[in-house]
Amino acid sequence: MTLDALAFGAHADDVELSCGGTLIKLAGMGYKTGVIALTRGETGTRGSAEIRAREFAKAAEALGLAVHKMLDIADGRVEVTWENKLKIIAEIRAHKPRIVIAPYWIDRHPDHENASQLVRASAYLAGLKKIETAEEAFRPVKVVFCQGRFEFAPSFIVDITAAQAQKMNAIRAYTSQFHRPDRPGATPESGETLIARPEFLELIESRDRRYGAQIGVRYGEAFLVREALGVDDPVAFFGPEYQWTIP
Ligand SMILES: [Zn+2]
Repeated sequence: MTLDALAFGAHADDVELSCGGTLIKLAGMGYKTGVIALTRGETGTRGSAEIRAREFAKAAEALGLAVHKMLDIADGRVEVTWENKLKIIAEIRAHKPRIVIAPYWIDRHPDHENASQLVRASAYLAGLKKIETAEEAFRPVKVVFCQGRFEFAPSFIVDITAAQAQKMNAIRAYTSQFHRPDRPGATPESGETLIARPEFLELIESRDRRYGAQIGVRYGEAFLVREALGVDDPVAFFGPEYQWTIP
């Protein structure tokens, strides 16, 4: 199926946390969206590959995705290899997205950093005719990077105010990963992961709130592009909605 926007994450739940609100918003605008997780999450501290696949499907429904898929790259061993690039090239060619969303290239988890490199390289390589796969060559218009644990100075921020509550619903679909009120007492000492602590979801919400404030709306998600963005008409582009962001 042809998509307008395709987001890649190393693991199920990566995309929901970083740009779930934007995907919900795009789907609401009538765009076809998709998420591809490079791994099945089998080495995660909590949950099994089966549980994570079920949760991934539930989150996909909450995001309104047209396509969601897990590839079979080994979790914890997402490496920048030709074999892995070919798997991603095949997906980009199959779905022909105008924009590809990739994780930011600096991260605590090596899978995330390698996923970033793999997706960026593959988006370019997918356009080379001499690299042969089942589908014909296709290159997305733009690769945009979304935020993981480490922050960047955003190239642009998307207003997700109307989608933020639904984003939190998508995140809560991962019941094996995140805090539930019926399972209190998560602490580092009890072997709980960082993301299972109750304050983790608050952190996501407060980050969205902070990026929203930067563009004068309630909630926002930050994105980075490597190239300068062209603006045809600065007067129209910096319209009345920019009044809140003048320093
Ligand atoms: Zn991850």
